Amino acid sequence: MKLKTNSGLGQRLMAGFAGLAGSAFVAHAAPSITAIGPIRRRLFPKLSGISRSNSLALTFDDGPDINSTPLFLEELDRLGWKATFFMLGTMAERQPELVREITSRGHEIALHGYAHKNLLLRTPQATDSDIRRGFNIISELAGSAPRFYRPPYGVLNLQAVLTARSIGLTPILWTSWGRDWRSKATPSTVISDLSHSMAPGTTLLLHDSDCTSAPQAYLSALGALHLLSEKVEEMGTTVERLCDHFPA
Ligand SMILES: [Zn+2]
Repeated sequence: MKLKTNSGLGQRLMAGFAGLAGSAFVAHAAPSITAIGPIRRRLFPKLSGISRSNSLALTFDDGPDINSTPLFLEELDRLGWKATFFMLGTMAERQPELVREITSRGHEIALHGYAHKNLLLRTPQATDSDIRRGFNIISELAGSAPRFYRPPYGVLNLQAVLTARSIGLTPILWTSWGRDWRSKATPSTVISDLSHSMAPGTTLLLHDSDCTSAPQAYLSALGALHLLSEKVEEMGTTVERLCDHFPA
């Protein structure tokens, strides 16, 4: 089943919850069901980052972070890979130079919201202003508007779907994650976790900052990139940005 537009996403999510539509909270929370990976991958492949591409889309959340993002940029250059960085407005406004550095190296900038808060706990008004504030900051710093939006924790609410549509953002979550935010994560566990649902045409999630996770958790993701390159070679595929994964 393929999603054609964000509007379609909102309509389908709401249709799925029509039997429960008596509650305003249910309407607000309905899109959050897509945070459950197996359900999302089956019912919402595009939202899960699954495309017809033969490559893997590589994405990073939670930066830009002056303590860690430059290390990822170096490693990505070494591997010859371009990736997509889902940025937080709170982080980007502290590191404007780093935003520009990421774009100048050919990576794609996307929006992770202004603050890293679970949208299920936010009102429609707070959701709307968070997305617009993050969008404006990141568009200005990057010099162009982001195309993709991924909410914190992968949790959407109805307002997030509506606001994203109104400013031209496409919500995208992920197919496979490295669980690299955990204090016990290592490069090997990251690769093992990524491998569960990794195949050509899927989207991978890692983090280039530990600002919302265990201190120095980013080291597990950073160390995993070299191991990932071996997997990618074994699979006979390549790595790409989301904008290449989903050509406009
Ligand atoms: Zn995040």
